[in-house]
Amino acid sequence: MSQGNLLDSALSRLDEAAKHINVDPDVIEKLKYARETTKVRLMIRMDDGSRKSFLAWRCRYDDTRGPTKGGIRFHPDATVEEVEMLAFWMTFKCAVMNLPYGGGKGAVQVDPRQLSKAELERLSRSYMQAFSRIIGPDRDIPAPDVYTNAMIMGWMADEYSEIVGQASPAVITGKPIALGGSLGRGDATARGGYYLVRHLSGDLGLKGKLRIAIQGFGNAGQHIASLFAADGHSIVAVSDSGGAVAAAGGLDVEALLAAKAEGHSVVTTAGRHGHEAIAADEIVGADCDILVPAALENMIHEHNAATVKARLVLELANGPVTPEADAILASRDVVVLPDILANAGGVTVSYFEWVQNKQGYYWELEEIHTKLRTIMEREGRAIRELSVSRGITMRTAAYVHALSRLAEAIEAHGTQS
Ligand code: GLU
Repeated sequence: MSQGNLLDSALSRLDEAAKHINVDPDVIEKLKYARETTKVRLMIRMDDGSRKSFLAWRCRYDDTRGPTKGGIRFHPDATVEEVEMLAFWMTFKCAVMNLPYGGGKGAVQVDPRQLSKAELERLSRSYMQAFSRIIGPDRDIPAPDVYTNAMIMGWMADEYSEIVGQASPAVITGKPIALGGSLGRGDATARGGYYLVRHLSGDLGLKGKLRIAIQGFGNAGQHIASLFAADGHSIVAVSDSGGAVAAAGGLDVEALLAAKAEGHSVVTTAGRHGHEAIAADEIVGADCDILVPAALENMIHEHNAATVKARLVLELANGPVTPEADAILASRDVVVLPDILANAGGVTVSYFEWVQNKQGYYWELEEIHTKLRTIMEREGRAIRELSVSRGITMRTAAYVHALSRLAEAIEAHGTQS
């Protein structure tokens, strides 16, 4: 897909939703474009004394429902088109969950695995310096995304406090606990998806011991494996950027986590624990009940969607299924729990973190889990009911659900704004 078409492809979901709800054309027009996207070139000093520059962006897509919210991605293939598409999805994700936020996103075009820790810290701090006038606790609140983590959020929070001359933890979420991070943020993306599947499994005809295949074994992939395995389900195939392994009787999740903790690919576990190496692209067609794409965009597309054997696709990544693949999966009665609902546990616990930072009072882990579960079940149930009553996919239902909230807020702001 050409880069210029990325946002158009994402907008096709909005057009589809608009067919099922009576909204003012002005609302659709407003949601078709990013409100502001800022591009900078970050210059940092490398450890060898040389200077290197990196392209970076921050997009505030829509702030009708509140300050813009969304992660910062560090990836060598990041582009402005991708950032705007991801920010568009954040706008809908926050509305799906009824969080008081608009949508935003940021990125640096860099392969962080090529940087030393000190270089990574300088890059993270320079991102915050460059965007400190755009970012703010009531304006635009970043968080982790692909290849960024709590440590990076901690550096950025620290840099922001230096700039404004006071502690300001609510400026960024996904921070280390020691800097005002929330309990439960680490596994929140996976846990939200897990609560959703648990809640809807009866409706979806999934029972007993389930077989799960996971594409991508970063934060979300690792945590979903642990959560499902702890309930006695088996993880039958897993992939990461280095390769893939499978075991019909179930992979040894502890061994997979240990390999990752040592900085190795899951494929290094092949030949032990009954694990067998498979081609990474076989994961989409793995024999399983639930397929969990937890890597990047467009992994399930028109050329491999027909190979999916799973009955349910849980989108922990953002945008892993293309619109063409959506149609193929729907025609084969494969249910897709869409990203803007399925992976929204992450931004929901980010919201809890922001609330705790603002009130200066911190909740117990159990309280976080209960609140997350309540919201996932409430919004998941509403979307499921819309899907059944209108005869539309869960994705279209999620967009309809979000769009009605966005439309209400856009209209409430007044027509002359
Ligand atoms: N990057 C995550 C997402 O795509 C989390 C965003 C946040 O917590 O603000 O949903």
